[in-house]
Amino acid sequence: MTALLDETRLSKNHRLVYEIVQEQGYGRHLPMSELYELARTRRPGIGFTTVYRALTRLRDLGMVSEITLPGADSAYYEAAGPEHAHFRCTECGTIDNVKFSLPSDLSTRVASDLGAHVTDSVVTLLGRCRACSTASVAI
Ligand SMILES: [Zn+2]
Ligand SMILES: [Zn+2]
Repeated sequence: MTALLDETRLSKNHRLVYEIVQEQGYGRHLPMSELYELARTRRPGIGFTTVYRALTRLRDLGMVSEITLPGADSAYYEAAGPEHAHFRCTECGTIDNVKFSLPSDLSTRVASDLGAHVTDSVVTLLGRCRACSTASVAI
């Protein structure tokens, strides 16, 4: 990880966007539109494109994670952190982190079946969150 080295080479705007994502903390996932609003409160006049480019760059540097989930209309961003899966509520769109790491026997199987080496995994679980499950029981 060269994240700390790269951080010192970021432009002011990129650093601002990076800080905003970091401040959200583990388990918070924000779409571009909300990050843009937060950036504007800190630096009025910052452009949408600037924020978008910053996010793309930070993602390419591995400093911010971009997640796209089935059924969600936009990508979400979060601080780069330990491997985890996501749970998305199909009713209200809530996204939660789920502790997850790829079972090693699965990687082994992929290696023997496909001769491929797994370097990353993107796992999304879909269903209804607690609030939505409770609501439907009450009705
Ligand atoms: Zn829900
Ligand atoms: Zn997450």
